[in-house]
Amino acid sequence: MTLSREQQAEIAAQREAETPTRRATVPALEEILYQPLPVLDHGFVRVIDYMGDDGAVVQAARVSYGRGTRKVSEDRGLVNYLMRHRHTTPFEMCEIKYHVKLPIFVARQWIRHRTANVNEYSARYSILDKEFYIPAPEQLAAQSRSNRQGRGAVLEGAEARRVLDLLRGDAERCYADYIEMLNEDETGNPVEEGRQGLARELARMNLTLNVYTQWYWKTDLHNLLHFLSLRADPHAQYEIRTYAEAMLETVKRWVPLVHDAFMQYRMGGVHLSEGGLAVVRKLLRGEAVDQAASGLSAREWRELMAVLGRPL
Ligand SMILES: Cc1cc2nc3c(=O)[nH]c(=O)nc-3n(C[C@H](O)[C@H](O)[C@H](O)COP(=O)(O)OP(=O)(O)OC[C@H]3O[C@@H](n4cnc5c(N)ncnc54)[C@H](O)[C@@H]3O)c2cc1C
Repeated sequence: MTLSREQQAEIAAQREAETPTRRATVPALEEILYQPLPVLDHGFVRVIDYMGDDGAVVQAARVSYGRGTRKVSEDRGLVNYLMRHRHTTPFEMCEIKYHVKLPIFVARQWIRHRTANVNEYSARYSILDKEFYIPAPEQLAAQSRSNRQGRGAVLEGAEARRVLDLLRGDAERCYADYIEMLNEDETGNPVEEGRQGLARELARMNLTLNVYTQWYWKTDLHNLLHFLSLRADPHAQYEIRTYAEAMLETVKRWVPLVHDAFMQYRMGGVHLSEGGLAVVRKLLRGEAVDQAASGLSAREWRELMAVLGRPL
């Protein structure tokens, strides 16, 4: 993650300023407000603003007039109940705004989450930074043989070196061509006198998908948890998962009761089909059951045995 001196100074100035307010604030989140949390090689996620706290969720659920005088244990019980029973609207009472710097191919997955407000850095207006995501060697994996949307063993030796060379070389070359077509360097100065240069909105089409883009991304807590349940999940692609994991830490600081309920009932729990539940009931009764008799597909059976920690 590389921030210019000016960007660092802007963040420091924002962190210096304090605004008195009657609204709920959360000291643990204030501690990291505006601070970039590094993700991947040049990316980050930082909390820019937020509204509400754990109290706002319980307040809305009780439709109360004030912050209430209930004990934390009662609030925890209520938040757990809401999470368990998918009573989701009280979670929509909290909002959070992030500034994210991420590779374009990660942004393409992320933008599928339609229930957020997004404003992306304009590559029609500005020149994109010369920053490309190059996977760490341990992330340079082969195509999985069992999962078409997954990775297998890590590439090694000459093959790994060749892949890294190609990734770096292609990104560098395309970026150099981008600059040549623009006839402007990264700071907007002309490269060669006497050439007009291609419009920024056109020149960008030549860039590789590992170039970093940036956006402001604002959503409510309910939709954020939905995003995290999909993207912090082990099935999500590693690159977007690292962002989701960093955001999960911000949720833990911001709304610890909601975070605990989410980890307990969503991230740590599983959803069983009717057939899956029937298998579990049989196993609890000590009855023998196999895939053929269960009526589950081979894949669903494998998934169920994996969550139950039983051999196939
Ligand atoms: C592991 C994984 C693999 C994926 N693979 C693919 C893939 O191969 N190809 C691909 O195209 N996508 C893929 N996706 C993206 C996926 O299909 C969803 O588009 C993405 O996860 C956003 O989910 P969402 O629609 O629930 O979220 P959001 O857009 O945030 O929506 C939240 C919820 O709001 C409701 N909602 C929002 N908009 C509408 C609408 N227009 N109509 C009805 N209900 C709406 C739905 O209930 C939805 O669940 C993948 C996602 C994951 C996590």
